[in-house]
Amino acid sequence: MADDAALDALYQEIILDHYRRPRNFRELPNATCTADGKNPNCGDALTVWLKFDGDIVADVTFQGVGCAISKASASLMTQAVKGRTRAEAAEVFEKVHRLVTGTETDAATSKELGQLRALAGVSKFPMRVKCASLAWHTLKSAMEGHEPEVVVHTGPPSA
Ligand code: ZN
Repeated sequence: MADDAALDALYQEIILDHYRRPRNFRELPNATCTADGKNPNCGDALTVWLKFDGDIVADVTFQGVGCAISKASASLMTQAVKGRTRAEAAEVFEKVHRLVTGTETDAATSKELGQLRALAGVSKFPMRVKCASLAWHTLKSAMEGHEPEVVVHTGPPSA
């Protein structure tokens, strides 16, 4: 078993690294779809751009302002869905949603999320769940091509 404190430190390091040096942090001029997301509780606001090549996410980028969790989550999101099919990206969304709400019970599924597991710690902090899930809800909205602006609301996450 991994030492819990060491694991926490590793996860914190991943979050800080992605916060300080967010990956794919730029506009995507030739995007095929885009959406804006806001988390008024925390002041997180970001835009997600997607470029599809057929059914494949050829490129995905984001820009915005927000706390460490929201930015790190967005950065991790771009890495996680790039090169995936639409269906695979939707599947990752579902897994991350379960991860950050603390409802993922399958250890094997958690394991395949890799670095994204750094976000699991937020499940203990309801306010932070919104920060961690903002980029993902915005991604989903962009993929589905509706709701140009997503606002994550307060209250318990919907099941
Ligand atoms: Zn936040």
